Amino acid sequence: MLEAAGAALAAIHFGVPLAYYLYLRRAWLRRPWGLRRDPGYTPRVVVVVPTYNEADLIERKLDDIYRQDYPREKLEVVVVDSASTDGTPEKARRWASKHPDLKVRLVEEPARRGKAHALNTALKHIPPDAEVVILTDADSFWPQRDTVRRAVAYLADPTVGAVSCLKKPAGQGPGGVEEAYRSLYNQVRLAESKAHSTPIFHGELAAYRKSLLEEIGGFPEDLGADDSHTATLIALKGRRAITPEDVWCTELVPRKGYTRWRIRRAQHLTQHFQKILKTSHKTPSQLKRILAVEAYLHLANPWLLPAAAALLALAAAHKSPSAIILLALAAALLAYKPYRTWITTQLYLTAAMIRNLHTKE
Ligand code: GDP
Ligand code: MN
Repeated sequence: MLEAAGAALAAIHFGVPLAYYLYLRRAWLRRPWGLRRDPGYTPRVVVVVPTYNEADLIERKLDDIYRQDYPREKLEVVVVDSASTDGTPEKARRWASKHPDLKVRLVEEPARRGKAHALNTALKHIPPDAEVVILTDADSFWPQRDTVRRAVAYLADPTVGAVSCLKKPAGQGPGGVEEAYRSLYNQVRLAESKAHSTPIFHGELAAYRKSLLEEIGGFPEDLGADDSHTATLIALKGRRAITPEDVWCTELVPRKGYTRWRIRRAQHLTQHFQKILKTSHKTPSQLKRILAVEAYLHLANPWLLPAAAALLALAAAHKSPSAIILLALAAALLAYKPYRTWITTQLYLTAAMIRNLHTKE
């Protein structure tokens, strides 16, 4: 009995994401976009870099933006700093004075009230004729000189409201579109984007149509995943929020405190999906399905794993041979990296939900 229940939970835990992946792959991954993408579209773009104690990275980040091949008169940078104590604003100011051909505005908040708060402050300093706002974290880099151009090209289509990037798998050299199809995670982002929208955006590059940001009232300040949540609110308005296969970004993974960092990220994501579930909308049905499955995968499915393990362990303690075999198999599979990655991600998500009960950060 116990082993049957444990095996059933495990089958659901692995079966639902696998079925979703296979469905997306078959039905959407290779479909054409059906969008009017225009590489010649060059609206006025403001790149917003929020900083809190980023003195080690801010110059490198500005250099990276500076390398973008986008008409200079159409590009502007806003660095919004929240009372950094390591000299970040001074470094940004010095960099700006050395690069007079790129317009850089430094906005300083007198106190730190979180990234989303800083982003909303930045919005107030954006010129009225700017059409696109691109958020990018200080610890991220754009591997292509035409990253901005590529992202903006999709916004030429009025049905698209927001564009983010796919994460370049670490250690991969420059490659073409095919890279998008290499990682499972990227395949899911891409296929969801083609179906309608993906509910997961990346802080390395998140481009929004400014008018839509105003329509949804700016960035949500009560939860961590402001990039994903903002994109989803835009999708819920019927505009698409997509991560195309030709827009890439790179993130520096912190060397210290990796586990803490992963749990914090997972906390932000689970907060995002919990809030989406509580918001009721008239949603396009394709989007509704994506949100329902992703909310399930982030909020409920992770718990089936420890539940299954507990039931099987109990059965094994009662000398059930099938439970012992299943547990041994599950343990042996840990040698296989994609499986290990999946398992640790599930554990981060459950840890995050527990941690969310007492702290949001
Ligand atoms: P993570 O990538 O989600 O772990 O978050 P990071 O710590 O890398 O922060 C993302 C970006 O937001 C970085 O550029 C930070 O400097 C910036 N940031 C974080 N907190 C604040 C804040 O309170 N104010 C401002 N202005 N920026 C912040
Ligand atoms: Mn980061």
